Amino acid sequence: MAKLYFRYGTVGSAKTLNLLAVAHNYRQQGKRIVLLKPELDTRFGRERIKSRAGLEMDADILVSPETKLLEMDWDDISCVLVDEAQFISSVHIEELRKITLIKNIPVICYGLRSDFRTRLFEGSRRLMELADSIEEVKATCHYCNRKSIVNLKHVNGIAALDGPSVQLGTEEKYYPVCYKCYVDQIEAASNIALLAQVQDAN
Ligand SMILES: [Zn+2]
Repeated sequence: MAKLYFRYGTVGSAKTLNLLAVAHNYRQQGKRIVLLKPELDTRFGRERIKSRAGLEMDADILVSPETKLLEMDWDDISCVLVDEAQFISSVHIEELRKITLIKNIPVICYGLRSDFRTRLFEGSRRLMELADSIEEVKATCHYCNRKSIVNLKHVNGIAALDGPSVQLGTEEKYYPVCYKCYVDQIEAASNIALLAQVQDAN
């Protein structure tokens, strides 16, 4: 049986760059791979898998609720690489697990551990439960030199805890932060909100 891998990190941890490097290596050796990503990630155009460093490749499969991964042709495939795996449903993660078992093809998933409220994403939760290998792709906090473990959302330059957890291609910015800076930023934002209320009352 081949292995299921989950390589997780915060935003800015070069997960996609890592994925594209692995894809490149397989192709250099003349091996066939499948690049897969959730359909809802439309930041860079539907079919592109693009890293912040500028490298990009086309995705072979865009996973939508109707996608039946087990019914696809997996002959001669050496590896399956999944980008933005946090947005893949539990059902599809389970299908990927079966591909490692039935088709004997390794599946390497890259994704965020948690959303900006520090809660696990659906796909990440199922991967934590089912993966043979769980590895952290590290990044440094946006504000200090500690390792980042959570994603901080900024709306108009101020830390925010509201809004949907799946929101792509909008004007919000996400920063990789350590837990201390996460708490400090949220606290600062709530102080700003309180101050605004006091000023309004006056
Ligand atoms: Zn920090």
